[in-house]
Amino acid sequence: MTVRVLGLLGSAESAAILSDIETLEHPSAHGTLLIRHGYLNGQEVVVFPRSGPRHPLPAHSIDARENIQILKSYGVTDVISSGMTGSLRPSIPVGSVLVLDQFLDFTRVPRPTFFDDDEFGFVDFSEPFCSRLRGDLVAGFRDIGVPAIPSGCYAGVDGPRFETSAEVRMFAQLGGDVVGCTVLPECVYAREAGLHYATVAGVVNLGAGLQAGPLHAPDWLAMREEHMASIAAVLDVVTKAMAGSQTEQRGCDCPPIAYERVRDTAEAISV
Ligand SMILES: [Zn+2]
Repeated sequence: MTVRVLGLLGSAESAAILSDIETLEHPSAHGTLLIRHGYLNGQEVVVFPRSGPRHPLPAHSIDARENIQILKSYGVTDVISSGMTGSLRPSIPVGSVLVLDQFLDFTRVPRPTFFDDDEFGFVDFSEPFCSRLRGDLVAGFRDIGVPAIPSGCYAGVDGPRFETSAEVRMFAQLGGDVVGCTVLPECVYAREAGLHYATVAGVVNLGAGLQAGPLHAPDWLAMREEHMASIAAVLDVVTKAMAGSQTEQRGCDCPPIAYERVRDTAEAISV
């Protein structure tokens, strides 16, 4: 039996809600990361500075592969990430909060997998986000009175540029609800590493073509602060439910193993 350890991927300022905080220094390609370890309502929590040691590292420079490896090395079993997004639909206005349940991957990351060379495998992504964590987040937002949308499809792009109006129309027609550049390929690496992963998406702007003028980054910074406050509040509720629970009690639909190793099968086919 393994006690669950919660990793928070998003802003380093999330550590402010923890108690008994310890700072762990970890080397990375962008410098020494300051990882915060502590507790919230008795739940062990690791806060990872997704944007690197020199905030803010642009999204396209974030090494999600390395970040997930580091989280795993600190014993994290469950991850709740946050992502600021643009809405692809007028029916999802600025200020909306979504607990994502699907994604469309439009990123062009060179190695969007841990399975390289002969150590390859295939992972089920029918439901890319952990159903238990999603359920806890939806219930948590209900408890704190935030009208979160309980599902949503994330269109992942590389950034840092904003989308064209045509791209926003295309993503919406394909089923996307919001667009952003941090959740992918992070979500993929997390599942391949055997971590249970869910995301809270905050809408900070309408997509190109859905609002009157051009998009400017400063316009959404204030809205981001509001989202971070509600995420801190929901984490207070979620950790109360999670504290002391064990991995075997999670009761989700995530694949039970990190990946289904197929090398032996492939070698059998090739001879
Ligand atoms: Zn799960």
